[in-house]
Amino acid sequence: MDGTVAASGALDGGAAVDGVVLAAEPADSGVDTADVSAMDVAASDADAVRVAESPVAGSDLNGSPAAGSGAAGLDIAELEVAASISTGSIDALPDGVALEEPGTGSNPAVIGEPGYGGTESGALFDVDMPVRLPSAISPSRAGDFMQCPLLFRLRVVDKVPEPPNAAATRGTLVHAVLDRLFDLPAGGRTPDEAAALLQPEWDRLLAKTPGLAELFATPEDLAEWLASAKSLVGMYFTLEDPNRLEPAEREWFVRTVVGDGDDRFVLHGVVDRLDVAPNGLLRVVDYKTGKAPPAAYEAKNLFQMKFYALVLWKLRGVVPKRLQLIFLGSGEVLTYDPDERDLRGVERKITAVWAAIRAAAQRREWPPSPSRLCDWCSFKDGCPAHGGEVAPAPIVEFTPVPSGNAGAS
Ligand code: SF4
Repeated sequence: MDGTVAASGALDGGAAVDGVVLAAEPADSGVDTADVSAMDVAASDADAVRVAESPVAGSDLNGSPAAGSGAAGLDIAELEVAASISTGSIDALPDGVALEEPGTGSNPAVIGEPGYGGTESGALFDVDMPVRLPSAISPSRAGDFMQCPLLFRLRVVDKVPEPPNAAATRGTLVHAVLDRLFDLPAGGRTPDEAAALLQPEWDRLLAKTPGLAELFATPEDLAEWLASAKSLVGMYFTLEDPNRLEPAEREWFVRTVVGDGDDRFVLHGVVDRLDVAPNGLLRVVDYKTGKAPPAAYEAKNLFQMKFYALVLWKLRGVVPKRLQLIFLGSGEVLTYDPDERDLRGVERKITAVWAAIRAAAQRREWPPSPSRLCDWCSFKDGCPAHGGEVAPAPIVEFTPVPSGNAGAS
């Protein structure tokens, strides 16, 4: 399906199709009133639906078809107010290169000067020292392996430290602001209030990771970067009205166990936001600070969302009704309505990826897989595919998942 197809319906926030706003019913209480069961499932063939540039200001918020849309703008209404669990944030680098649990240099198998490249020869590792890893995988790391086994090895096995990245750090900052925004009462979640959160959240990040200061050579550079973060936060308000939402979860760490016997492994990740309708229907929301990829490259982002949907399905016994990606860089919203068949397919896929990781570890072979994405790879200079050199891979031992650990968030 063309990713720019006209959606016949949308959740809250005034998603637009070809400039047509499909929006929600406002409510006195500040939460939406329509029932999610009445949602018009936009993508009847379960393909992703892309909606773009949907200004909330001046939009039709009455849940009625916007002029020219011929479609009902329905909502995930009366969202359940629930405790949120804040576990830190993750974000994606430009073009979907994810930043999550990168190496910290704490792995004793890493020798030599930390930092990518490490030594001139690239020989970083004592290959006789086994590296113990949990039997666990996140969507970001699964994506790393699918993109390039060597990238996975350097991040996960060797834990080679990576330099801070301004775009990824901005993503972390924007995620933190959008999380904190929902600490404010409905009605008070304004662009100005959100903008006011940027500096304290940046101060908090900096206190936690002082090395981030190296990203900016001058105060002007920092000011420009903060302005770009403010622009992204401002874009958020053109795509959703947070005053009409009460997320059930924010920055929510989830995990579950899949597989049998010795093949059991953990799926885990952090869901940016979970909305729950009164009838229990779930919407999983993820913020991206980059631009929406071309339709042909949507699969990677959708894999991440389906991964979360699979985990939630296993945790709650309910297939999320909707997966929603909000691209703040381009002002686009991508939605996808999964079904059980989708999620069984994702489980098969992630199980195959896990088996491939185990096999690569056993063979100690993590070949590079060069692509356009190498330009965003921290390890490019030391990569054999680009004239560099890495030491033989260390032995990897995976810690079994304890029996009875069925997994829960
Ligand atoms: S530069 Fe490319 S091929 Fe080399 S490790 Fe990075 S992603 Fe893989």
